[in-house]
Amino acid sequence: MCMALAEGGALHLTSCMHRQPTFRFLFLCFVIFIAFGLPAFAESKSPIQERADRFLALANAGYQAVFRVNSEAQWNAATDVTPEHDAAAEATGKAFAAFNGNTAIINEARELLTHQRELREITVRQLKQLLLNAAEGPMTNPELVAKRVAAETKQASLMNGFEFKLNGQKLTANEIDNKLEKSTDLAERKAVWEASKEIGPMLKPNLVTLRDLRNGVAKEMKYPDYFSLQVAAYGMTTDEMLKMLDDWMATLRPLYLQLHTWAKYKLAEKFHQPVPKKIPAHWINNRWAQEWTGLVEAANIDKYFEGRTPEWIVKAAEQFYTDLGFSPLPQSFWEKSDLFPVPPDSKRKKNTHAYCYHIDLENDIRSLQSIEPNSRWFFTAHHELGHGHYFEAYSRPEVSYLLRIGAAPGFHEGVGELISLAASQVPYLQSRGILPREFNADKTAFLLDDALARSVPFIYFSCGTMPHWEADIYARNSPPDQWNARWWKYVSDFQGIEPPSPRGEQFCDAASKTHINDTPAYYYNYAFATVFKFQLHDYIARKILHQPPQSCNYADNKEVGTWLNNILKKGGSEDWRKVLKEATGEDISTRAMMDYFKPLMTWLEEQNKGRQIGWD
Ligand SMILES: [Zn+2]
Repeated sequence: MCMALAEGGALHLTSCMHRQPTFRFLFLCFVIFIAFGLPAFAESKSPIQERADRFLALANAGYQAVFRVNSEAQWNAATDVTPEHDAAAEATGKAFAAFNGNTAIINEARELLTHQRELREITVRQLKQLLLNAAEGPMTNPELVAKRVAAETKQASLMNGFEFKLNGQKLTANEIDNKLEKSTDLAERKAVWEASKEIGPMLKPNLVTLRDLRNGVAKEMKYPDYFSLQVAAYGMTTDEMLKMLDDWMATLRPLYLQLHTWAKYKLAEKFHQPVPKKIPAHWINNRWAQEWTGLVEAANIDKYFEGRTPEWIVKAAEQFYTDLGFSPLPQSFWEKSDLFPVPPDSKRKKNTHAYCYHIDLENDIRSLQSIEPNSRWFFTAHHELGHGHYFEAYSRPEVSYLLRIGAAPGFHEGVGELISLAASQVPYLQSRGILPREFNADKTAFLLDDALARSVPFIYFSCGTMPHWEADIYARNSPPDQWNARWWKYVSDFQGIEPPSPRGEQFCDAASKTHINDTPAYYYNYAFATVFKFQLHDYIARKILHQPPQSCNYADNKEVGTWLNNILKKGGSEDWRKVLKEATGEDISTRAMMDYFKPLMTWLEEQNKGRQIGWD
């Protein structure tokens, strides 16, 4: 990726934005005045710019109004799953789609974009965003849109209301995760893993319907398929996106092969089994083998969270941001969020994933979590509040409602992930009294855990299995009777993982992953976020803190807060490549990520001496 700017270069650029007009600036205005006979301050608008401004004022106001009503209904449906809330969410979903996909909006945005060269860049960005929003439900085909909204709502309801069962006993998703984290009994692990996949066949028929409906709306807007529509948010085609993801996997592959080898030996020893070629899926704590936690005892800090309350976890996360100089989240966040698990005796069902909602695109920010006092939820809370602070940073008059989004979709996830990474640094945890002062960190252990639990295997799930499978079903129209075989081929090829026993087409294991159902063709955003977070972290550690990226502490550093806020407050008003380059001096790449794990590579090669590397 990128050659670094001269030190401080990016800071210099951003600090320009706050400067008073200088003599040079006034002189430039004078030259423009002489040259064009126009006062540079009161630039007169062209008729086409006037027309675009009037149109966008209306579009922005309408967009915010329907966005708010729809978010409120979606919030109710996710925090309290009932037929009434589902019906309300379906109705507002239709209204939202009807506004975004309004034929008059599509036609006027297209017409104005034929005059693109005469319009301001910020105007063009909003018009293009309008078309991307419209593409989710173009009312040029209202019947198709209505069918899609109904099918999306049905899928969300099936998913949120599903009850996992183990030996006839109900168990929650949190309980599945806890069992896979703790159990050393392989028979039990296999049963729990299989129970977690039971949701797939129930979701498959409607997923097949959704695949066609999603592709249908994309085609209506002249995109070849739904996957292409989604990656258009990066200004990329499906092939360009897959190539970028494949390049990232190729650069990290030597490290992944070393980690995979180390992990399978470690797991074989733990379960008293012969060393396999591929790692059986139920040996790994995560249901999709996307993160490999719990393999490095020396980096397990759960015991330091014992006796803490869930409330303490989320307050600690909030303090991270306010100590960097971010404004606190609004009071309504604390009043309206749904942060803790539903009590076991409650009849209420809620979505057990973690989300952050920007309800009104202003100050109504809420988070849905099920926080428990352990390190996993500690980092998740830091991540979710990152979305909240991002929302807050760009909710300002200079950023129109249509552009109150990340510079690219992966920016939002990346900022959350960056703060998770920062919050996991040993010096930070010590400075906050979570780890004792005298805590003597085994640096290799922490780096190994970082790689396994949060970064490297995750790349092969998020750049490999997920986007390749979704590109197959959306862009290549893969037949449903091959979906499970295709899924396991990718899990095997990219991740080096195999199922505990053969998984035929009576299963649909991809559909056990929430995002396949409710956030389609989106998962590569998490891969982008991972690569991006290491770039931001590398810049912060080396250029601002002057500390090693593997062991640093952001706490209380206002310069870090200002630098980060300069990225966040822009929202979607500039191209993501420009924002990243101005902030870090680099283009997107795995350079910073590979540097971060360099000390680990030598250690792994030593450990794996004489072992067979890889699974071919
Ligand atoms: Zn997130």
